[in-house]
Amino acid sequence: MQPLSYLSISEDGPWATYLQQVERVVPYLGSLGRLADTLRRPKRALIVDVPIEMDDGSIQHFEGFRVQHSLTRGPGKGGVRFHPGVTLEEVMALAAWMTVKNAAVNLPYGGAKGGIRVDPKTLSMRELEKITRRYTSEIGIIIGPDKDIPAPDVNTNGQIMAWMMDTYSMNVGSTATGVVTGKPIELGGSLGRLKATGRGIFIVGRELASNISLPIEGARVVLQGFGNVGGAAAELFAAHGAKVIAVQDHTGTIYNDKGLDIPALLAWQEKWGGVAGFPECEVMDGEALWDLPCEFLIPAALEGQITVARAKRIQAKVVIEGANGPTLPGADDVLRERGIVVAPDVIANAGGVTVSYFEWVQDIQSFFWSESEINERLDRIMVEAFGRIWATAQDLKVSLRTAAFVVACTRVLSSRERRGLYP
Ligand code: GLU
Repeated sequence: MQPLSYLSISEDGPWATYLQQVERVVPYLGSLGRLADTLRRPKRALIVDVPIEMDDGSIQHFEGFRVQHSLTRGPGKGGVRFHPGVTLEEVMALAAWMTVKNAAVNLPYGGAKGGIRVDPKTLSMRELEKITRRYTSEIGIIIGPDKDIPAPDVNTNGQIMAWMMDTYSMNVGSTATGVVTGKPIELGGSLGRLKATGRGIFIVGRELASNISLPIEGARVVLQGFGNVGGAAAELFAAHGAKVIAVQDHTGTIYNDKGLDIPALLAWQEKWGGVAGFPECEVMDGEALWDLPCEFLIPAALEGQITVARAKRIQAKVVIEGANGPTLPGADDVLRERGIVVAPDVIANAGGVTVSYFEWVQDIQSFFWSESEINERLDRIMVEAFGRIWATAQDLKVSLRTAAFVVACTRVLSSRERRGLYP
């Protein structure tokens, strides 16, 4: 039995990164700064034990979490990840970033996140279904279409959302499609949701590039992560004339200075489960990814990837954060000093939760939109949100991250102020 992970918070983990980001924004919050402690702690954190009977008849226990960082602006909203590195501390940080993200894009949500400390690749389909259902049942006391709405994140997908929706529905005795988003289309899922995070990354990249007169046509793109997020982003960049020169995933790192054939790579990855073995490219050392000269560097895997040491070596003009929390605070400063612009996660990867919001709205009204309506609405919301963050950064002479936090935290704290303190 593994020792429990949730009894300590490290000084250099994701929660510490989030707290430092909050410290940077407080001086720009004016009188609302006095309410900033609201941001410095989660409203509610649930730890659950998830025991399941494995295929070999043994019983194993897994740690599960659901954290609602803020419910001030609406129900909690944020994904669920299945990963062996999940801890309460990580889920707390991810939930807090959802609060900021949802407010940065002005969605009527608070912020939440969940996770199970498990490597899903070691589970059979039956075990995966059991762990999902037991976890959903355990967190069922705090989720619901108007309380907190989970969605996919790292290693979770539409099938897992279908099991979550079914489990919750069985427990409450009626079909509740709006309890999770990222569902298959036939269960109230939304067109466009699967590729929405990647599409949002492209939209933010396009807007940022136009503000700094950087053409997308011919631009070199380097990607870490080629899952749902990185793959869809690569597809759009390539379709607009950019050259995706390097891609890294859990199976390896591949390079082609003429640009990888992205549709062929997506088909390869679908078939073989990773980029390794793809023809017409060179295999390169994973660490050397951070040295590649390029216009766009897109970390789209896990948090904490851009360390100070890597930030000193990065040769990109722009970093677009597809992952949540990929850049450490010290590394943020190095990139800024070196003139590398960072489009922060809380806006860059907000396309996913924005289309999740559309899915939830469609489920509530039982009236579904066309894919072009969804993509147009996504474009409009992202352009407006990014424009506001860009203008704030120019006005205050701060990074885009601090600007995004200023816009978002001002929204959260003014709602907080208006609502007042209960009792
Ligand atoms: N997991 C995604 C994120 O980090 C999407 C969350 C959602 O759709 O609720 O933004």
